[in-house]
Amino acid sequence: MAAGLGTAGVLAAAGTKQRPNIIFIMSDDHAAHAISAYGSKINKTPNIDRLAAGGVKLNNCFCTNSICTPSRAAILTGQYSHKNGVYTLNDKLDGARNNVAKELQQAGYQTAMIGKWHLVNDPTGFDYWNILPGQGVYYDPTFITAAGKKQYSGYCTDLIGDFTLDWLKGRDKTKPFFLMCHHKAPHRPWQPAPKYAHLFDGVEIPEPDNLLDRHVGMAASSSAVKMRVGEDTTKTDLKVDRPAGLEGDALKKWAYQLYIKDYLRCVQSVDDNVGRVLDYLDAEKLAENTLVIYTSDQGFFLGDHGFFDKRLMYEESLRMPFLARLPGVTKPGSVSNDMVLNVDFAPTFLELAGRAKPAEMQGRSFEKILAGGKPKEPRKAVYYRYWMHNDGDHHVPAHYGVRTAEYKLIYYYGKPLEMTGSFEPSTMPEWEFFDLKKDKREMVNRYAEPGYQGIIAKLKVELARLQKEVGDTPA
Ligand code: CA
Repeated sequence: MAAGLGTAGVLAAAGTKQRPNIIFIMSDDHAAHAISAYGSKINKTPNIDRLAAGGVKLNNCFCTNSICTPSRAAILTGQYSHKNGVYTLNDKLDGARNNVAKELQQAGYQTAMIGKWHLVNDPTGFDYWNILPGQGVYYDPTFITAAGKKQYSGYCTDLIGDFTLDWLKGRDKTKPFFLMCHHKAPHRPWQPAPKYAHLFDGVEIPEPDNLLDRHVGMAASSSAVKMRVGEDTTKTDLKVDRPAGLEGDALKKWAYQLYIKDYLRCVQSVDDNVGRVLDYLDAEKLAENTLVIYTSDQGFFLGDHGFFDKRLMYEESLRMPFLARLPGVTKPGSVSNDMVLNVDFAPTFLELAGRAKPAEMQGRSFEKILAGGKPKEPRKAVYYRYWMHNDGDHHVPAHYGVRTAEYKLIYYYGKPLEMTGSFEPSTMPEWEFFDLKKDKREMVNRYAEPGYQGIIAKLKVELARLQKEVGDTPA
């Protein structure tokens, strides 16, 4: 047995034909708790659930910086923001950098990127690309290819599904392929397909138990944000004017029902289009040798803590859904609680393709986890950093932190890099500490509790160790 390659690595080493195809389906801002396979109480996603039924569900897959552009860069490069240079929404990914698609191309894979790219510069490493400009729009969107721009009539999610199937049908069938299919949905402003405009009409969507969170003892993450359901959702988000005199808890409950329904309507189209791809793989007998992944660039607050959006290091924002199916490798209906990161995706794909990880990639392959085993280097603690302070829209203070299986420590330090503006939280810096065993919802900041001081001191040491390990600099 070839040492260090793992099941799929051995398969790959045996010959080109057996290397798995990889279809990476990623949506934008789709929280795990809006997927029925993850126990959603608010919607059903029958097609995404097919991946859970036939494969493995990761419960603790996390992003390293919970915002669109940086997460995409981390996935492609296998590097943290401070290494790949994409810290915020405003940064460009340098096309000259190495990425997972370039590596797979070198390994003989045919590569394609379809949908939301959001990294400013044109994609590199892809034989074919057809992307939305920037965020793109939901209705009658324009797409860009190497040949230029073209506007299409129709709904964005369905068009991305069409282009994905078109590419699969027309691909070079002599080569394994790596296809990234990136949906724009369900990103704000949550505009559903016309056919789902009335889905959930007359239905009351259950509220999260902490929709009316008062953020007691959490000054930084409460006073500094502009992402509160009700107070900060706009007419563009909700599509209707706020009734006169509506405020406080009543406003929050009213706005929650409106935004969450549109969010879930957008999810429904994503689910449909995941189903179209899976149906195609079944019909073409490709399913057996194709790794299919469903994930999202980060999580999202679904009214949790009274928020929409992401950015913060709290669980709902930090967690990415991650479902993977590769018959013969993933065990149907299996679940893993091991912690993995978005920077680990690229090394995992390379291992599955039998290609060595380039030195600059910081992530660790979790191919063993997909195969139902334990990773060679399990992550006992993960490092997170959000850099985009004071962006004018959300006012989330920059912060970094460490999460273990049991605890989370977050340090809000204020203003990094050259971000400018008048807003400066008066509470900076501030620490938050959560006991995740007792407090899954992160409702009680126990940073000052005497009984936890020993654990907190150890976590500070671990935080410093992780920063050094990944080459980041403390604030
Ligand atoms: Ca996103």
